[in-house]
Amino acid sequence: MRGVYILHLDTPLEHARHYTGFAHDLAERIPLHGTSRGARIMQVCQERGITWRLGRIFEDGDRRLERRFKKTGHAAARCAICNPTLDLTVAVPYSYERTTEDCPF
Ligand SMILES: [Zn+2]
Repeated sequence: MRGVYILHLDTPLEHARHYTGFAHDLAERIPLHGTSRGARIMQVCQERGITWRLGRIFEDGDRRLERRFKKTGHAAARCAICNPTLDLTVAVPYSYERTTEDCPF
């Protein structure tokens, strides 16, 4: 399953509390962040003993959505750990993929 995901750091790293990423295969990619093959920031977390949890999955989200999330920030507002009323997994509407309409997330 392709998608965009947010990882929630249990302890902030500098000012970072979340990591946003994109993967063609979420099930394969997300666990790699707990190894030396993860994103650099997640490697630093591992070195410092900072644990993390999956904060949200945007099923079928693309790189454009990932870029938008990284550009606009506010990952905490999209994280289901920071906001327990949010569903951990959400499907990205097909219409969003095809248009430039405002991001619903
Ligand atoms: Zn969070």
